[in-house]
Amino acid sequence: MVTNASAPTVYLDHNATSRLRPEAMAAMMSALGQAANPSSVHAAGRRARATVEDGRAAVAALVAAPAPHVIFTSGGTEANALALASAARWASRVIVGATEHEAVAANAAASGLPVEIWPVDANGVADLDWLQARLGGWEAAERPFVALMLANNETGVIQPVAEAAAIVRGANGRLHVDAVQAAGKIEIDMTALGADSVALSAHKLGGPQGVGALVGADGIQLRPLLRGGGQERGLRAGTENVAGIAGFAAAAQAAERDLDSYQAQAVWRDQAAERLVAMGAIVVGEAAPRLPNTLCVAAPEFSAQLQVMGLDLEGVMISAGAACSSGRVKPSGVLTAMGLSDLAGCAIRASGGWTTTEQDWNRFADVWCAVYGRHMTRARMKEFA
Ligand code: PLP
Repeated sequence: MVTNASAPTVYLDHNATSRLRPEAMAAMMSALGQAANPSSVHAAGRRARATVEDGRAAVAALVAAPAPHVIFTSGGTEANALALASAARWASRVIVGATEHEAVAANAAASGLPVEIWPVDANGVADLDWLQARLGGWEAAERPFVALMLANNETGVIQPVAEAAAIVRGANGRLHVDAVQAAGKIEIDMTALGADSVALSAHKLGGPQGVGALVGADGIQLRPLLRGGGQERGLRAGTENVAGIAGFAAAAQAAERDLDSYQAQAVWRDQAAERLVAMGAIVVGEAAPRLPNTLCVAAPEFSAQLQVMGLDLEGVMISAGAACSSGRVKPSGVLTAMGLSDLAGCAIRASGGWTTTEQDWNRFADVWCAVYGRHMTRARMKEFA
């Protein structure tokens, strides 16, 4: 295979990390240029404090929450971990959606509480009847802590969070929502969702890696993971990542401004999907509401690893359904939970973002169809050999 060096590269991996927005870069450079500790009382310290507090207001606005409810963390993983660690303060059990990110699933397991998995249907949507039945039979003294993501990182499937919140509230429980993938792609109103806490991450919406937030509703009892200098109202010790927060805030504002642009993105994505489907691919979660930027497709006889490599050789960057931190591809646990284990090793994810154009989606479809066509020809030739 010869790499087409003259072809433009296409980045369709915004769900892994979005491109850094110029607004975020500028805000970070400015904050880095005047580095000071926000806890210092002198003028430079007060300027740094203002950057952090302005950032808090901008991040709060992203989920329509009051600014003081935002606790800055090192990212989405820590935000989820803080919520799950706090569950042990008052809950007797944890229920987590079957397609949650590891940042939720692993921290639920580490909470020390019994964990139950809340099943999803074949489209990846959490089964509300199951939750109703499960919490209906709950002992009055037991308090459930439920975690349900707003949108899935692999399939883009959007969960019925507001409906789930009503059921959880009826059982005196609390609902934590991992909104890491949804934020900046769809509108979020934390109160309308009925979420008690929401996890966010800057790098999924055009901010820097290594900064995120847990937004906790009024009265939520949190247990800090990190103790020390008492920053973030004693809930997350450590000198604030001022430049990271500045970048997060600028990206959040830009993402909110650009929300409408995702309508066009969904059209381009669906046009590309149609071409893949015509070749034999299956769109995962197609019948469910999905993020406008995410396409998860499975090609039954074509491993995800070969698809990712074949496209990469042509300058098109996508992900396999799930990539572990080693970079190796493992079968998708999300698809397995959806009852699609046959497809779990051959699903890829293309995810657009603020830099993505119609041409990008077209080129992705061109290259995928060519790579798939070559693969199938080779496979057939082997059969006849
Ligand atoms: N939750 C979801 C749904 C994610 O997709 C990710 C990252 O991929 C995380 C949490 C973790 O976020 P971070 O990379 O900021 O720790």
